Amino acid sequence: MNIHEYQAKELLAKFGVAIPAGYAALSVEEAVEAAKRLPGPLYVVKSQIHAGGRGKGKFKELPADAKGGVRLAFSLDEVRAHATDMLGNTLVTIQTGEAGKQVNRLYITDGADIEKEFYLSLLVDRKSSRVAMIVSTEGGMDIETVAHDTPEKITTLTIDPATGLTDADAKKASAALKLEGDLAAQAEDTVKKLYEAFIATDMEMCEINPLVQTKDGKILVLDAKVAFDGNAMFRHKDIAELRDVTEEDPAEVEASEYDLAYIKLDGNIGCMVNGAGLAMATMDIIKLNGEFPANFLDVGGGASKEKVTAAFKIILKDPAVKGILVNIFGGIMKCDIIADGIVAAAKEVNLSVPLVVRLEGTNVEQGKKILSESGLAIVPANDLGDAAKKIVAEVRKVA
Ligand code: ADP
Ligand code: MG
Repeated sequence: MNIHEYQAKELLAKFGVAIPAGYAALSVEEAVEAAKRLPGPLYVVKSQIHAGGRGKGKFKELPADAKGGVRLAFSLDEVRAHATDMLGNTLVTIQTGEAGKQVNRLYITDGADIEKEFYLSLLVDRKSSRVAMIVSTEGGMDIETVAHDTPEKITTLTIDPATGLTDADAKKASAALKLEGDLAAQAEDTVKKLYEAFIATDMEMCEINPLVQTKDGKILVLDAKVAFDGNAMFRHKDIAELRDVTEEDPAEVEASEYDLAYIKLDGNIGCMVNGAGLAMATMDIIKLNGEFPANFLDVGGGASKEKVTAAFKIILKDPAVKGILVNIFGGIMKCDIIADGIVAAAKEVNLSVPLVVRLEGTNVEQGKKILSESGLAIVPANDLGDAAKKIVAEVRKVA
């Protein structure tokens, strides 16, 4: 689960991380009011979307030479002008894709007098099964580019979960940033607090780009991109409330309401599968047969009629879907029950695209019988390979 920059900063501030003052704003008036509460004379007007690269982004509705989604303002009038430019418009950045994201919120914050920009992030590293801390002197830039062009400027530390982030780890980080004296001490304090926040709130990622050194010798967090482990949000109700569903894919939001694991993809074959492993295998075999999946969808172990119906509806909302492949293993749920669910759901949603169904498991013969006697144009398949070939043939007929 992702949150906005201003929310991430408010959260990190609670852990004592040094953050410039700032306020969120939903309208131009609120933006100006927010600026009035800040000391000035330098303000920063920042578009709040769940994507990075805002500074170098472009607004679709503005001339190509207009400034991006993070702008400095030297007066309240400038704050007003920038807020007017941004709110309601669509910001396209390297992370949003071509469609961009509409800016509905702003963050008005104190401008910092920057001496140097650094990069610092914490993330769950599955390879080492530890939290990794990545630091670089090359802040304010796209870290993938730094990793590609000058990998020697990136230092990765893995944190031992038994000790947590130690003084020695913190010192390695400040040394990698080439900081000394009081600046090094501030940076060490910052990484310790960030790690504490990371663990305490079940973050998956916390990217500070840039962390800065100001002209008056302070270490500050100027940008924060934070993602949490969605499966841990039940124990952080306050954080779960920060979720902004308008930033998420509507189909994925709907799927989460039904407890379906759904990810939209670019292909034309809708997939309905139970179990993440089977879903992965199904997507692989579709690709192997020359087409692409329109989604990843795991309806879970107990594929009930309600879930199957909801899943059909979500898949069918995607106009790219030219056919659906149902691949369900009846273990916890028997095949005849699943077949009943598929038939009922297909009738309810008025299925308009070819449907290939592969059932396997307990009571499979009864299940197949229910499908063949349903009167629906369901194409039965015997195994995964057969199913993939059949759905690919079906969508090619349509196209
Ligand atoms: P993004 O990464 O989405 O482009 P950032 O918050 O990192 O957005 O802002 C882009 C750049 O704008 C930063 O690298 C920094 O140079 C500048 N900037 C951001 N916030 C401030 C601030 N409070 N004061 C001064 N400059 C800032
Ligand atoms: Mg940034």
